[in-house]
Amino acid sequence: MAGSTHTVTNQAPPLSGYDVFTSDRVLTEAVGRHLAAGPREEALAELSGLGRSCGSFQTQEWGAQADGNPPVLRTHDRYGHRVDEVDFHPAWHRLLGKGVSAGLTDARSRPGGHVRRAAAFLMWTQVEAGNCCPLSMTHAAVPALRADPELAAEWEPRLTSRVYDRELRPAHLKAGVLFGMGMTEKQGGSDVRANTTSARPLAEDGAYELTGHKWFCSAPMSDGFLVLARAPGGLTCFLVPRVLADGTRNVFLIQRLKNKLGNRSNASAEVEFAGTWARRVGAEGRGVATVIGMVAATRLDCVLGSAGLMRQAVAQAVHHCAHREAFGAKLVDQPLMRNVLADLAVESEAATTLGLRLAAAGDAAEGGDERERALLRLAVPAAKYWVTKRCAPVVVEAAECLGGNGYVEESGLPRLVRESPLNSVWEGAGNVQALDVLRALGREPAALDAYLTEVGAARGADHRLDAAIGDLLTDLADLASAEGRARLLAERLALVLQGALLVRYAPPEVADAFCASRLGGDGGAAFGTLPPTLDLASVVERARPVS
Ligand SMILES: Cc1cc2nc3c(=O)[nH]c(=O)nc-3n(C[C@H](O)[C@H](O)[C@H](O)COP(=O)(O)OP(=O)(O)OC[C@H]3O[C@@H](n4cnc5c(N)ncnc54)[C@H](O)[C@@H]3O)c2cc1C
Repeated sequence: MAGSTHTVTNQAPPLSGYDVFTSDRVLTEAVGRHLAAGPREEALAELSGLGRSCGSFQTQEWGAQADGNPPVLRTHDRYGHRVDEVDFHPAWHRLLGKGVSAGLTDARSRPGGHVRRAAAFLMWTQVEAGNCCPLSMTHAAVPALRADPELAAEWEPRLTSRVYDRELRPAHLKAGVLFGMGMTEKQGGSDVRANTTSARPLAEDGAYELTGHKWFCSAPMSDGFLVLARAPGGLTCFLVPRVLADGTRNVFLIQRLKNKLGNRSNASAEVEFAGTWARRVGAEGRGVATVIGMVAATRLDCVLGSAGLMRQAVAQAVHHCAHREAFGAKLVDQPLMRNVLADLAVESEAATTLGLRLAAAGDAAEGGDERERALLRLAVPAAKYWVTKRCAPVVVEAAECLGGNGYVEESGLPRLVRESPLNSVWEGAGNVQALDVLRALGREPAALDAYLTEVGAARGADHRLDAAIGDLLTDLADLASAEGRARLLAERLALVLQGALLVRYAPPEVADAFCASRLGGDGGAAFGTLPPTLDLASVVERARPVS
C-alpha cells in the first residue's frame, strides 16, 4: 500500500467472536458435573448462547465503553430540585439489561439454579465486572428478605424478574427491580457495631425513619437497599425504597460518587438519610443475623467474580502466546513460557472448580441438605479469602505474558488488573474472612465435619494431598490463640479443598501440577516455577480458548 512503511506481522488476532462457555473446558465440565440429566442439557445450551454473546465483538465493545465512560452524579434538576440521580452510558444499560434477562439475579426458579447462575456470572464478569455488582446484590438480597415472609412475597418476584426496568417508579409498578446494600459507615466498615445511623419507629407497623449516612453504597440508582441502622432494640436491617408507594421520592441524598481504582462503570456513592422512610426486615437487634444471608451470597459471588477475571486473563495470555513468536518459536511452545501459562492455568482451574462446587452446595442447601449448608459456612469465607487474594497476582502475571501489549488499554488487560484487587476488599476484606473462618470453626462443629467429609472423599488418591490433610488436622487441633495465624489456616483450608476437588475431577496433569506446587512445596513463590518434568503442555492446551 502506498505510504506504508512496513508489514504488520506476528501480532495475535483479537480474542473475539468466540464462545466464552464452550471454550472454557473447566467451566463446561463443572456445569455438567453438578447438574442432573435434563437440566444439564438445557443449561449447557443456554450457557453456550450466553457464552457466544459474551465473546462477541459487540458485547466486548459495550464492556469497554461502560468502563471508559464512568457514571455521573446529577444532584439537582434544572430548576434546582434535588433529584439524586446517576447518569450512565448507554452501554451500561445494555449490559445490565442483558445480565438481568440472562437470569443473573435469579438462582431459584429452576433446578440447579445456583450452578447455572454461577457459570453465567463467571462469564459475565469477563465482559465487564462493574455491572456485576448490582446483579450480585439483587440476587443476594433474596435470602435476607426472607426473614420477613410478607416482604419476601412482595419483593422476590421483582428481584428475580428477567425484566430490566431502569425507571425510578414505585416498585409495585415495576416489572423488575435492582437492590443495593448500605452497611459501611465512615467510622467503621468491618465493625458494623460502630454504625451510628439511627432508626426511629413510626406509628405505622414496621415503619421507621432513618437519620445518618453510609460511606459506601454501590449501585445507588437501585430501587431498594438493605440498610443497617440502630433501632431502639439494637442494630437492625431495613429495606429503604428509592421511591415510596405513593410515587414520591424517598429521602436518599447522594453526596458524591467515589473515584475508584477500578470497577469504574459502577457507581459507588456516599449517601445520607434524613427522615428517610424504611421498613424493618427481621426483628430489632437482629440486623447482622438478617443481612448475613445477603453477605454470604455476595461473598460467593466475589469468589466467582475472581475466578472469572482470572479465566479471562489466562485465556488472553494463552491465546496471545499461541500466536506470538519470539526467537524463532511460538511463545506457547517455549519451556519457560509454557511453565508460566501452565501455572496460571492451574490457579484459574482451581478457582473455577471450587466456585462451582460451592454453587452446587448452594443448590443442595436450599433443597434442605444440612451438610452442604454446613460446608458453605466454612468453605465460603475460606474461598473468599484465598481465591480473591490470588486474583491480582494471576492477572498481573497474565498481562505480562502479552509483553508491552498487555500494559496498553486496548488489550483489555489493564482493566482486569484494576479490577483484580476489589473482590478481596469488599464484602469483608481478607482479615475479616480469615477471622470468620475461625468463628465457623469455633462455633459450628458441623461445618468442619462437612468440610472433612468433602476432602476425605479424595483421600488416598495423592500422597501430597493426604499429607496436607494430615498437616491441616494438626493445625486445627489447637485453635486456642489462633487469631494471629488465621490467614494461614484459611489459606490451607482453601488449598486442601481445591486440591481434593482437582484430584477427583480434573485431568491427572492438572491435579499433579496443583498438588506438587501448592501442597507438596515443589514450586517457587512466583508463577512459572512448576516442576518442568510435569506434562505442562497438556495443562496449557486445556486452558486454550478454542471454541
Ligand atoms: C468499590 C467499593 C464498593 C463498595 N460498596 C459497598 C456497598 O455497596 N455497601 C457497603 O455497605 N459497603 C460497600 N463497600 C465497603 C466495603 O465493604 C468495606 O470497605 C470493607 O468491608 C472494609 O471496611 P472498611 O473500609 O471500613 O475498612 P476497615 O473495616 O477499617 O478495615 C481496614 C483493614 O483492617 C482489617 N481488619 C478489620 N478488622 C480487623 C480485625 N479485627 N483484625 C485484623 N484486621 C482487621 C480489614 O481486613 C482491612 O484490611 C464498598 C467498598 C468498595 C471499595
